[in-house]
Amino acid sequence: MSSQPAAAREAPNHFIRQIVVEDRAAGRHGGRVATRFPPEPNGYLHVGHAKSICLNFGMAAEFGGVCHLRFDDTNPVKEDLEYVRSIQEDVRWLGFEWDVLLHASDYFETFYLCAEKLVRQGAAFVCDLSAEQVREYRGTLTEPGRDSPWRERPVAESLELLRRMRAGEFADGARTLRAKIDMASGNINLRDPAIYRIRKVGHQMTGDAWCIYPMYDYAHCISDAVEGITHSLCTLEFEDHRPLYDWFLRQLDLPGDPGLTAPLRARGLSMPVSTPQQIEFSRLNLDYTVMSKRKLMALVADGLVDGWDDPRMPTLSAMRRRGFPAAAIRTFCERLGVTKQNSVIEFGVLEGCVREELDAHAPRRMAVLEPLRLVITNLPAGHEETLRFANHPKDESLGTRAVPFSPQLWIEREDFAEVPPKGFHRLVPGGEVRLRGVGIVRCVELVKDADGHARELHCTLDPDTRHGMPGADRKVKGTIHWVSAPHAREAEVRLYERLFLVPDPDDESGGKAYRDHINPGSRRVVRAWIEPALALALPEQGFQFERMGYFVADRYEHSDARPVYNRTATLRDTWARRA
Ligand code: ATP
Ligand code: MG
Repeated sequence: MSSQPAAAREAPNHFIRQIVVEDRAAGRHGGRVATRFPPEPNGYLHVGHAKSICLNFGMAAEFGGVCHLRFDDTNPVKEDLEYVRSIQEDVRWLGFEWDVLLHASDYFETFYLCAEKLVRQGAAFVCDLSAEQVREYRGTLTEPGRDSPWRERPVAESLELLRRMRAGEFADGARTLRAKIDMASGNINLRDPAIYRIRKVGHQMTGDAWCIYPMYDYAHCISDAVEGITHSLCTLEFEDHRPLYDWFLRQLDLPGDPGLTAPLRARGLSMPVSTPQQIEFSRLNLDYTVMSKRKLMALVADGLVDGWDDPRMPTLSAMRRRGFPAAAIRTFCERLGVTKQNSVIEFGVLEGCVREELDAHAPRRMAVLEPLRLVITNLPAGHEETLRFANHPKDESLGTRAVPFSPQLWIEREDFAEVPPKGFHRLVPGGEVRLRGVGIVRCVELVKDADGHARELHCTLDPDTRHGMPGADRKVKGTIHWVSAPHAREAEVRLYERLFLVPDPDDESGGKAYRDHINPGSRRVVRAWIEPALALALPEQGFQFERMGYFVADRYEHSDARPVYNRTATLRDTWARRA
């Protein structure tokens, strides 16, 4: 018998989970598991972040640990409170709740104390080279760098200059604090990397208190340690930064030097201090998608989409607005697994998870997106009935609803063909079709408009094929959906397709940039007719429009007075067929 809890046995296994299991078995970190999700508040979260969120929160949940949400707000120039708000909303929407909310800026005083410690230990120095000179001295992948002329300046001088940097005595870029590691290292990250730079800008959390800001590699490992993080999970591009991560922690010995974290305790932030382990996994890449925040930001800024939550964007708020259930995104991340192999996942895989979730749980409704009028001529013009429809073919718990029926109907224009192509099983002149939930109609007359287009179909309903009648089971090839014209509500329906026409919009060979590959037909708006129950839906409720796809009531613009639906996904993967 396994002693693991049930949740652990069912959880998908992967190499990071294996490391955590072994660390716990070996009693490392006292058996504790603490992870963090550390977004920089410089944009909205995208589906790539979801992979990291599911992994970090998932590991903590499985092993009874904690997961922190930490805003990595060390670069005030690009950061904004709008992003801080949206990130929290999106993490919660995805189904996770953090144990503590923290900001890297909570540790600014600790970062600074650590810097003075490094200087005193001779492990860091103030450098007067300009940014351009630093680049020159750095060397290349094949050539070693050269030592800064300021590298051997006395400790006391560096310490004094660091204090004066903090006090705001020097201009932006005039000096930096650098680690003293090895300018000949084969790993460029170890060639005396910057620790602090001067930036005289206000910060959304700390205001004007600071004019020097720490670099990511320096701030990240210290943040992890002072929060007691045990496993610091990040994406593969940080693999080459791991030696630096470990170097800083070795130099600083945060667990052994409580003075460094005293400013945190003074503010009521007393957390166990750890020696965290950085572990890298491959990032999520999706085809037909760009995922860099810089590019997403440009799409928004240049008006190529209607904001960060435009349903064509790969952001979580866009997917939410598009009607992707959070559960489907979690399933997707689980199926991807966690590895060190970089790969590009087909967007269709994510859509497949969305369809699976919606097929199982979304109530069914009828809506006509491109209408053609159908009149039943053998019922009195004023005839009205209320039919009962099951909301889901397999899940009775979703109940039933009233669907009004009358002899004036809207059907989908493409469900009629005057000259049917081969294999067409829907309505043709003189032919029969089943009206979903009603019975069999025969098209007895096609009325055309001046241009020769079908304007109206006159049909007769075979009364013997109605519910409960002896002929109710009579077979015809096709069944089509409809809505009753006098009862139907008009709706705005937005049909979304992929934002990009090519699988790899990031590929800039051939002189094109991602913005040259935007799909001009990625958003089409139609006036549709929907059954009355769809007008009453609440924003964000998702449905299957029978035979048409999955749709969601728009989060912001849908109302009973003015229904607005977004297409979440077609019923099947139409892109796979095109390829
Ligand atoms: P960008 O480089 O576009 O600004 P980022 O990756 O730097 O994005 P962060 O806010 O720093 O964005 O990311 C927070 C966390 O999410 C990091 O730990 C990062 O590794 C992880 N993450 C970001 N993108 C992906 C992705 N595509 N797949 C998996 N994890 C990701
Ligand atoms: Mg980042």
